[in-house]
Amino acid sequence: MSSTLLPNWTSGQWQVGQGSGTPLFDPVKGSELVRVDATGLDLPGAFRYAREVGGAALRSMTYAQRAAMLAEVGKVLQANRDAYYEISTANSGTVKNDTAVDVDGGMFTLGMYAKLGASLGDRHFLLDGEPARLGKDPLFQSQHVMTPRHGVALFINAFNFPSWGLWEKAGPALLSGMPIIVKPATATAWLTQRMVQDVIDAGVVPPGAISIICGSSNGLLEQLLAFDVVSFTGSADTAQIIRSHPNVVRHSVRTNIEADSINSAMLLPGHDASSAAFDLLVKEVAREMTIKSGQKCTAIRRVFVPAALMDAAAQAISARLAKTTVGDPRVEGVRMGAVVSRAQKQSVLEGIAQLSQVADKVFDGSQQPLVEAAADSCCVAPTLLAARDAHADTLHDVEVFGPVATLVPYTSETEALQLIQRGQGSLVASVYGEDAAALAKTAIALAPFHGRVHVLSPDVAAMNTGHGNVMPQSLHGGPGRAGGGEELGGLRALNFYHQRSAIQASTESLNHFTA
Ligand code: NAP
Repeated sequence: MSSTLLPNWTSGQWQVGQGSGTPLFDPVKGSELVRVDATGLDLPGAFRYAREVGGAALRSMTYAQRAAMLAEVGKVLQANRDAYYEISTANSGTVKNDTAVDVDGGMFTLGMYAKLGASLGDRHFLLDGEPARLGKDPLFQSQHVMTPRHGVALFINAFNFPSWGLWEKAGPALLSGMPIIVKPATATAWLTQRMVQDVIDAGVVPPGAISIICGSSNGLLEQLLAFDVVSFTGSADTAQIIRSHPNVVRHSVRTNIEADSINSAMLLPGHDASSAAFDLLVKEVAREMTIKSGQKCTAIRRVFVPAALMDAAAQAISARLAKTTVGDPRVEGVRMGAVVSRAQKQSVLEGIAQLSQVADKVFDGSQQPLVEAAADSCCVAPTLLAARDAHADTLHDVEVFGPVATLVPYTSETEALQLIQRGQGSLVASVYGEDAAALAKTAIALAPFHGRVHVLSPDVAAMNTGHGNVMPQSLHGGPGRAGGGEELGGLRALNFYHQRSAIQASTESLNHFTA
């Protein structure tokens, strides 16, 4: 007998697909959990309903009212948190700390937008900058305004953040007054579906504000119109399909892409293995490799250290990784669970094999037994490699989406910066040192190639939010290979969901905007 088919929520109704569904699995035990299916849904009707019913309802509210709505959504999620932890453990194979990054991280981000939104007050549009004179006298001026877009925001999300991936986008979109339709990645769609179901059942958002379609993405992009937006998180290959989709191109649909990224960590020259900066790097690399089994788009993949410190760094990071027990996340003491699916496990193992052509394994966790998990489960132990040739293309081209990182030696800071750039644009780089001026100089040198630079010195070690942890106050996204997108960054996130227009008018008319 097949498992429960999860219903989709579109056009104000719960509807199951007409097909037999795609099964979702427990990546540790291998058992089937639930099924998803979107066959036969009336997609034109679903998009129309979201745009017309959801859009009108949201736009009739002020920013402060929509912020209060986000706070209510947060309360519903908080009340059901235990169920989300259970689903996450079962479907994503995550230990509690890793579940927290997704579940609590999503709620925290939503809560931040509720707070930011309250500060915008009882307005229906936003001003962008000050009026600019168009002539000698100040009677006729140009004022830029931001108005909510009259469309729907389609989210196509990745498997690794079924909660955070939804709420980090939904917070800014709903606050802006745009209805959303989310299509979660199939492998982990259950958590997203359950969260949306709880919010809908609680009646805290107006009809049409949130819709969810689980299963295939077939037909979704065909529905997009001129004032819609699509926000995609996933692989560079799928990103290319979305960006070049004829309907997206025809209607100039606004697109945000968050794709893959070969993120770096760099220890500045002039620190030896006994330094506090070296210690910070070691801790952060080991942590980044193992949080969510390395399935974070922001995780450290390349670790740049002065050539003389390669052995010391390999030993220190390996000593930490050796303490990472891997296995069934339900078992007390297990620090790292599984990757999400057999396909991901295969992809990680192939990635390690590719890296091994240009790097040596200096820590191979697969030599240690798994805790209460079968060898054919989706558990993958951490692997640390050391590059034989810092300039080998594979190091800078291959993203292994699992608990894997490579140490790369450098001989000068200039060389390190050039090698980091070979990632072709990344989400984040972190830099470790003790000299504030040197750190600041390196941060600015890294900035053009990254969406975020995380600077870590001993004085802020206790406050460290983490290289890979995406904070809603800071921008998330990166140039080039990382997709060229921009999310979060406080109220900057609202730009994507608004139309910016210049209003040229008399100063007297413009004064009405602030009234
Ligand atoms: P993926 O295979 O590209 O899938 C992402 C989403 O696209 C899923 O919802 C998928 O649906 C959907 N999709 C697949 N083919 C499609 C098509 N032809 N048209 C429209 N939608 C389509 O990526 P993934 O394997 O889930 O995610 C892993 C990747 O995401 C990694 O490379 C990681 O670096 C990146 N990532 C980036 C960020 C970031 O913020 N920059 C965050 C997380 C992950 P199905 O699941 O139903 O196939």
